[in-house]
Amino acid sequence: MSAPVLVINSGSSSIKYQLVDGETMEASATGLIERIGLSDSVLTHRHAGEKAVREDRFADYGEGLEAMVAAFEEHGTPLADAGLIAVAHRVVHGGERFVQPVVVDDEVERAIDGLSALAPLHNPANLEGIRTARKLFPKLPQVAVFDTAFHATVPERAHLYAVPSEWREEHGVRRYGFHGTSHAYVSRRAAELLGKSPKEVNVIVAHLGNGASVTAVERGRSIDTSMGLTPLEGLVMGTRSGDIDPAIVFHMHRQTGASFADLDAALNKRSGMLALSGHGDNREIEKAAAAGDRAAQVALEIYCYRIRKYIGSYIAALGGADAIAFTAGIGENSAEVRARALSSLVALGVDLDEAANAAGGPVISTPQSPITVMVIPTNEEGEIASQTAALLRS
Ligand code: ADP
Repeated sequence: MSAPVLVINSGSSSIKYQLVDGETMEASATGLIERIGLSDSVLTHRHAGEKAVREDRFADYGEGLEAMVAAFEEHGTPLADAGLIAVAHRVVHGGERFVQPVVVDDEVERAIDGLSALAPLHNPANLEGIRTARKLFPKLPQVAVFDTAFHATVPERAHLYAVPSEWREEHGVRRYGFHGTSHAYVSRRAAELLGKSPKEVNVIVAHLGNGASVTAVERGRSIDTSMGLTPLEGLVMGTRSGDIDPAIVFHMHRQTGASFADLDAALNKRSGMLALSGHGDNREIEKAAAAGDRAAQVALEIYCYRIRKYIGSYIAALGGADAIAFTAGIGENSAEVRARALSSLVALGVDLDEAANAAGGPVISTPQSPITVMVIPTNEEGEIASQTAALLRS
């Protein structure tokens, strides 16, 4: 490995990690530490085709990351001998300030903390991972890579909301967008598959995982994206509503007396596909729909219709697209969702090849299709490692 980077993605009770080469973007080891702070924590470490599982109690992030260091010592190369150039951290919200990756110091830590109001579920956990890793690897640069950064190029016409000026000027209310490392990587790969430079093509990326967003990428730059101030806006997701009339919130508050915290949780955790079908996981929904479950069928219809509307509007926003790329768990694996999301788009230049779609691509449109449709596996950790290596080289 010529530029090994330890990539850390800290969630509220879990940490995902990968040892990735920042030049080839390939991972040599990956792991997941779950249920941190509970009595039945689990660490799963994968290296060279082998899987090692350790069940233990990791009281906090420090104990979790120490268990990760031990896993590297027991399986393959110890981290101390891996020649690490940096530890890189995924940080969800970079606000208006962080539009590039940055080496973390105390001041950057404070700034990430200051952005927690915009991402209360994510930034505090990301920061906890950074603080712990700085103690554990004091000699290595710690780099923060932001989910919002790729969307810093979205112009005012798409990032400003028509709301009172003090909301925008004093409280940071605007569209930020998320999944930036995925949209950046996949749009670049789409250009590569077309045999063009990213600067020569317009690409629409549909990142469809538990969270989901669509981005319009014009000549390598994000110009619009479906998530907004927070990851709640846009597509219907596993447990998030996506776009709704904001007045629904006031209506439900008046009707039921529910607090804003309750309404926030309802729209983020109890809505979306879970609310429509009883399942948050797409595989279960597709299975139920195939077995004749009407709620699951309607949920899939709504899910795919929302994607179709965004794709159509982004073809208009871009003034024409060269490619549409599907990625993440659902985008990479569900031929049914891709086919239904693209149905009736022939007039807009999308001619799907059903057999190629069923086979999974990478190209799933006919040779005559004006817009090339692709399936591209995302590589967020690879992109984070690559951006980290580029930052340290500069
Ligand atoms: P996250 O946003 O948590 O990273 P993923 O990108 O892993 O999520 O996507 C998870 C979603 O992908 C789940 O809804 C899951 O059901 C769906 N998924 C994974 N594999 C398949 C498959 N083979 N067919 C259909 N859906 C799938």
